[in-house]
Amino acid sequence: MPELPEVETTRRLIEPFLLGQVIESIDHENNHRYTDLSNVVGKRITELSRRGKYIIARFEEPLELIVHLGMTGGFRLDEGKHTRVTVKTAKGTVYFQDSRKFGKWQVIPKGEYATMPTLQDMGPEPLSDDFRLEDFVQDMAACGKVKPYLLSQKPVAGLGNIYVDEALWHAQIHPEAVNLTQEQSTRLYHAIRDVIGRAVQAGGSTLSDGTYGQLDGNPGYFQFDHVAYAREGKACQRCDTPLEKYWLAQRGTHFCPRCQQL
Ligand SMILES: [Zn+2]
Repeated sequence: MPELPEVETTRRLIEPFLLGQVIESIDHENNHRYTDLSNVVGKRITELSRRGKYIIARFEEPLELIVHLGMTGGFRLDEGKHTRVTVKTAKGTVYFQDSRKFGKWQVIPKGEYATMPTLQDMGPEPLSDDFRLEDFVQDMAACGKVKPYLLSQKPVAGLGNIYVDEALWHAQIHPEAVNLTQEQSTRLYHAIRDVIGRAVQAGGSTLSDGTYGQLDGNPGYFQFDHVAYAREGKACQRCDTPLEKYWLAQRGTHFCPRCQQL
């Protein structure tokens, strides 16, 4: 599933086609994954931002178009067999493809996230100044199991299964650790910023299923820097112990049993 780095890469790639442009047409499948998107036809996009794993387009009118890529959603410059939404502006046409159909597009009144609890309760962006060490230390001092809590998006936005496993390995914290010490939270804070920053630079991670790609179809490159995710059975790069995988809160979880002890 695309996480912050993949969504941010996607946002940057579609920006030249959408930002400052009037939407000439927007064609989409008619089902529950899409609200009626015709409300934004003829309107100019004045801001194209990202919050966690959501792309948000804002207009002169008080409306927001919110796009969640789901498991396999992404944009291409050519129409394909899994194209679900087609957006046309004077700068060109972008096609939203989504083979597994978990992506969602919604037009809502600006800032009204009551029906979107994840967005409503979302923590700060990890690379922004709003993500403050002292707040994070305080929050994590009373956290339940650290991995599920990070996945909730409440302490910090944008991390999913890959980047949580990566950050916890770097910080040497077990996925089920609770009530982190100041030292653990400080390591985790810096690990999150470092991992997310490098992953954004690399254009995100393209997994073996190949569903995430950049606009031109090229992959991201951060998968080559993974040290924990999908590396079960391989030697830990810090201590040589084989990494392990188990299921935690229905998510495949990768960690080093020696460096990341409970
Ligand atoms: Zn290790």
